[in-house]
Amino acid sequence: MERLHARYPFFTAARDAVDAAAVDLAELVAQPDEPAVDRAVDRVTTALTDHTTGRPHRDARTELLSYPVARVLVSLVDDAVVTRTYAIAEATTAHERVLSDLDGDDLKSTRGVDLSIDRLLDEFDLVDDVEETAAGGYRVAVARYLQLSSDLDDPDWRLPRRSLTDGFVPVTRGELLALLRAAIEERVAAGLPFTVPDGIAAHLDDEVAQVEDVLSDPVLPTSFDEVRPESFPPCMTALLERARDGADLPDHSWFSLLSFCATVGMSAEEAVATVDPDDPVVAERIEYGIGKLATADGDVAYPPVSCATMENYGDCVNKDDVCATISHPLSYYETRLADGD
Ligand code: SF4
Repeated sequence: MERLHARYPFFTAARDAVDAAAVDLAELVAQPDEPAVDRAVDRVTTALTDHTTGRPHRDARTELLSYPVARVLVSLVDDAVVTRTYAIAEATTAHERVLSDLDGDDLKSTRGVDLSIDRLLDEFDLVDDVEETAAGGYRVAVARYLQLSSDLDDPDWRLPRRSLTDGFVPVTRGELLALLRAAIEERVAAGLPFTVPDGIAAHLDDEVAQVEDVLSDPVLPTSFDEVRPESFPPCMTALLERARDGADLPDHSWFSLLSFCATVGMSAEEAVATVDPDDPVVAERIEYGIGKLATADGDVAYPPVSCATMENYGDCVNKDDVCATISHPLSYYETRLADGD
């Protein structure tokens, strides 16, 4: 099995490698202390807590096999929020790896991984829909552009804001990679959840319980009596200020901010009023983002990420005394509300 397969386990070649190795999933999960099963649990639980797939296992075979086991776990938990959050986490991790594995001119790969934009386009059947331009950018056939950008929340992805020539939409290299990230998420989510044979499910009761424990983690507060922006943690206050100042926040920072606002009970209208009621672009982004976070029954589909992940993103700033006592921005908010601050 190649290192590429472990880094991108949803690639067709990775699936073929698992098939070629004739791994029997029922036998694998029946092994006591099987590292691929442990890593699969980590993959799914970290997706729920940090929206990434966690630290990869040092053994490529274990890392690769943990992916199909993780899909089995997601299917057994059979919860729409888990399925969506897991697919986003796999796509987020893969996107970071793509950025790391592609070198400057896309002709070679780094880290001994044979990856190029051409290979990605081929993997996702986009070769006929994406053309490189003389200026070093790309253009994407409008139908695929619309399909892949439909879940991207920045209003700049909307077609009326783009130029359209001969049925193609010009995009930068970074935008093309963002569209490929959407393709990865689509690939991961495809077919989930599926029916798991009893012979496999019977060996995974404890692992399913571990995932469900994270879902019902009583430590993470998700219900609050009031919305009080002055009690927000410093990280969220800083993101609010940057958004208010018109800073171009990365997607993950917007996601953290909007997820936090929605979880503490802010409506889209309140969030718009707090950030910038006069900027229609910001308003559109907030309304769209918070709308996407809501489940059909009005809950918030994705809780905000932990302090550890905020730190990884570079968004944990201006820490104060309360920060030293908590590990999640929601816990910070709960503490400040309880103290009447
Ligand atoms: S420690 Fe947590 S709550 Fe405090 S600023 Fe950092 S991410 Fe926010």
